[in-house]
Amino acid sequence: MPLPDFLLNGYKDWIDNTFARKKNLFKKLSRGQNPKALVISCCDSRVHADKIFKADEGDFFIHRNIANIIPKYKNSSKGNETLAALEYGLGSLKIRNIIILGHSNCGGINHALNLFSNKEEYKNQSLDNWIKNIKPAYKLIDRNKSGKEQLNSLEKMNIINSISNLEKIPIVNKLNSKKQLNIYGLWFEIKSGKIMILNREKKIFENFSYL
Ligand SMILES: [Zn+2]
Repeated sequence: MPLPDFLLNGYKDWIDNTFARKKNLFKKLSRGQNPKALVISCCDSRVHADKIFKADEGDFFIHRNIANIIPKYKNSSKGNETLAALEYGLGSLKIRNIIILGHSNCGGINHALNLFSNKEEYKNQSLDNWIKNIKPAYKLIDRNKSGKEQLNSLEKMNIINSISNLEKIPIVNKLNSKKQLNIYGLWFEIKSGKIMILNREKKIFENFSYL
């Protein structure tokens, strides 16, 4: 089956322009990578950490999953790809900045809201089982608020909960205790392009100072 035009045309433009311009960078990267940050972000097509921060190839080691979740660590976390990405990024690549990038209008978080408030039934699919990881965050949101406010609130609480789970992972715990790791919680608003950063002491999201 031939590639569809949107892939062919995109690739042609990339190889002729982007790759041609960055040939030396790719040559250097072919010898290895030394990323500045490990990013956990959502699969959502509207959220691209490397574009938002104008990162180059080689800058970000990115793991994407539905709703940018870091599940609770268990001793038998077999088959947990998020944990595998963290172990590789921190252990082998020695990355020392982690960014959890959440976002507005998150379909995964919306699905979680619907499941936990019984608007939708569990169908025991992989998606529902994955989304159950958000349950502790759901317990912290104010359910008297409007639907949109609950969604935004759960998107942010999920980031806080994911960081809490992250810090219990042995390799993270070890680096943290030596103060060798920086962890950032960010929430991106699609409509405005605004990014808010988690103030970890106050457990609230704040605008960047220049916005
Ligand atoms: Zn999402």
